[in-house]
Amino acid sequence: MPRVFSGIQPTGAPHIGNYFGAMQNYVTLGEQFGKNSLYCVVDLHAITNPAASDPRELAGRTFDMAVANFAAGLDPAKVVFFAQSHVPEHQELSWVFTCLTPVGELERMTQYKDKAAQYESVPSGLLMYPVLMAADILLYKADTVPVGDDQTQHIELTREIARKFNHHYGETFPEPKAVYNQGAVRVPGVDGHGKMSKSKGEASTIGILEPLDSIWQKLRAAPTDPQRVRRTDPGNPEVCLIFDYHKLFSDLDTIQLVDVGCRTAGIGCVDCKKKLMEGVTAHLEPLQERAEGLRADPDYVRDALRQGAQEARAIAAPIMDEVRHKVGFLK
Ligand code: SF4
Repeated sequence: MPRVFSGIQPTGAPHIGNYFGAMQNYVTLGEQFGKNSLYCVVDLHAITNPAASDPRELAGRTFDMAVANFAAGLDPAKVVFFAQSHVPEHQELSWVFTCLTPVGELERMTQYKDKAAQYESVPSGLLMYPVLMAADILLYKADTVPVGDDQTQHIELTREIARKFNHHYGETFPEPKAVYNQGAVRVPGVDGHGKMSKSKGEASTIGILEPLDSIWQKLRAAPTDPQRVRRTDPGNPEVCLIFDYHKLFSDLDTIQLVDVGCRTAGIGCVDCKKKLMEGVTAHLEPLQERAEGLRADPDYVRDALRQGAQEARAIAAPIMDEVRHKVGFLK
């Protein structure tokens, strides 16, 4: 059976782009592969980014990311869900891989180059980021890695590191493959400027745990078809982000009603947005209620993370023993 690994950044509350792009996929894969699906909140990776690693907030962000995923339907009893820093073997394997990886290969990584350009003095953790990511995946001999297409180069490096280790020390690791969520749609930002992204700030995003009245304020102000100036002008739903959101949140009848109503000026934009808000509420309200229940029971969340770390370490332990033995460390 394939073994799935995915790292989740503890950077701010997830938005609907994360939810439809990744989190729902985690739930599906979890149902398919059970305890062979490992999901890890990557707090060790987070400290490579000073903007996301305020020590007063990091633990809370890690906790919140667990709450958001559990509320979105990921059952910690069915999958292995844990915090990266609770499994120290990630760092141990990362060091072994560090010693196998040429600096030049890491300096070629596009994400490194983009991020390093923002620093006067580049932290070496930023350079080593993809090595730690390779360790995250290979520590469990995972062969299936659901990622966004921005991670393709890092997965290729992981495969290269696996090949190098196997060449130096004997066949040990599989060469994992990236799997892209084919069903995932590109969710536009609510400000109308490109893809929804945390890096563009809250004005661009709709958080899955954001209060519903705050979501409504954003939708009310969101741009629509710019050609539709008056209520009596017919519009084109294909160029309107509100229609993109309808496809995520509304049922088929509503989508068809909006499609025809927009093109014939049978529905106004405010009413169209109100209809969308009904779908958003039906979708997010129960999720937000589950999140509230989880927050009211922090011990449940902490115990689930602790249990997840134990399960992860049980999988990692024989693999690390094998690595230590092959590298030649004294037993
Ligand atoms: Fe967009 Fe709806 Fe207005 Fe058409 S009616 S332009 S889909 S908000």
